[in-house]
Amino acid sequence: MEERVIKRLAEIVGPASVLESEEERLCHSYDATRRSALPDVVVRPQSTEQVAAVARLCTEEKIPLTPRGAGTGLSGGSVPVERGIVMSLTRMNRVREMAIEDLYAICEAGVVTQDFQKTAEEVSLFYPPDPASQNCCTIGGNVATAAGGMRCLKYGVTKNYLMGLEAVLPTGETIKTGARTVKSVVGFDLTRLMCGSEGTLAVVTAAILRLIPKPEHAETILAGFDGVEQAAAASAAVTAGGLTPAALELMDALSVSAVLRDASSQGLLAGEVGRAFGGAREGALLLAETDGFKEAAEHEAAAVEAVLKKAGARFVKRSSDGAEREALWEARRGVLAGLAKLKPITILEDATVPRSRIVEMVRAVGAVAARHGLTVAVFGHAGDGNLHPTILVDAPLEGRARDVRAAVSEMFDAALALGGTVSGEHGIGIDKAPFLRSEVGEAAFEIMRQLKKVFDPEGILNPGKLLV
Ligand SMILES: Cc1cc2nc3c(=O)[nH]c(=O)nc-3n(C[C@H](O)[C@H](O)[C@H](O)COP(=O)(O)OP(=O)(O)OC[C@H]3O[C@@H](n4cnc5c(N)ncnc54)[C@H](O)[C@@H]3O)c2cc1C
Repeated sequence: MEERVIKRLAEIVGPASVLESEEERLCHSYDATRRSALPDVVVRPQSTEQVAAVARLCTEEKIPLTPRGAGTGLSGGSVPVERGIVMSLTRMNRVREMAIEDLYAICEAGVVTQDFQKTAEEVSLFYPPDPASQNCCTIGGNVATAAGGMRCLKYGVTKNYLMGLEAVLPTGETIKTGARTVKSVVGFDLTRLMCGSEGTLAVVTAAILRLIPKPEHAETILAGFDGVEQAAAASAAVTAGGLTPAALELMDALSVSAVLRDASSQGLLAGEVGRAFGGAREGALLLAETDGFKEAAEHEAAAVEAVLKKAGARFVKRSSDGAEREALWEARRGVLAGLAKLKPITILEDATVPRSRIVEMVRAVGAVAARHGLTVAVFGHAGDGNLHPTILVDAPLEGRARDVRAAVSEMFDAALALGGTVSGEHGIGIDKAPFLRSEVGEAAFEIMRQLKKVFDPEGILNPGKLLV
């Protein structure tokens, strides 16, 4: 990068917030896909004005600009494939306002999701979106990917809690969208348009987020099944039976054993909970949660238990103990980390189908794995029809690359054929760009391309992603 541009960046954000060393650039070169590309420089703005001035400079100089939160993305979205500037938003980490009576908060993009949840809970409020990466991912990243999580089944995803945005266009203008009111019908819904746009339309600097009262009570239910198809069928039976637990998660035998290896080593899953979890080492698990007023949560938990038993559960364990419940959910959140310790390369997919088709999708994943001789773990948000088939391979990938590519493509074909989608929550990024057109069709793809031009006439913002 030219010295005069570095100098301008230093004038805007201060010299200490312009990172040029190879180590710093390396730390901002990858996301959780482990894809990587080295940026020329990293900037860490602390205000919306600084974001705007950097964006303006990038448009003037035609420099690629890639917004970045915590880099936990699972589609390569924050990898700066065309080099240029990575803009880390992590220093914009203030909760600007907690409007307790009006049930919203204004949160800067770099606030860590779990920190925000805790801030809300301190005043007996609740922010439901809970990606399994919540202890490090950011609100800005969640908005940009329309992140989901475990509690989507009952509560919905990030976009359902997004009331408005403050965002900086690539040309440097700051726009405000949405409102602080429950209702607002004022022109096109730019808030929704930007939610899930993966940093290709604007840099999100702050979000108005809806809050709800914190549920009084929760019950967690763990059920073991003989196999993953049976567990998936039980999940579909719960939702088809008119029950909407807060969460309903699936783990196949490989996911369970990966968690057990990892979690036991950390002292998680001790005692009875660990024994129950281990009971599905050969089979599959469903983990569900009901919440709300105590009597209602208990009543719903009993109804979920009854459906799971009828669907063939080998065992069902129920807990309302805070520490036990947290150990179980921590174990579920640890599946990907556990799998990543089994093999050096994990390729995690995000195929999603209507929930009544989930057994067919599980079967299709099994068939794809067998056809290509690949090890594929299956876990995910079964209640939403959102599976994360994860291919595990030895390094180097070269020898298996063709099989892996074919397997991924066949899984997506299967999801689409079942009326599903290629991404339930991780977005398109680099990895799924080739599949976007086939899902949305030419006309919709062209509208997206035109919209991108309106927001970003020079095409500098997060190039090489989504619409390629
Ligand atoms: C262990 C693990 C579990 C996960 N579980 C879930 C899950 O349950 N549900 C789920 O949905 N996802 C999950 N993810 C994926 C990931 O955590 C989410 O996509 C998350 O929203 C990314 O946030 P981030 O701050 O890390 O963003 P990054 O990875 O830094 O960026 C993601 C995308 O958002 C853009 N972006 C980031 N910040 C901004 C901003 N301020 N303005 C504009 N664009 C921006 C980037 O350019 C990129 O395209 C998981 C990931 C891991 C590693």
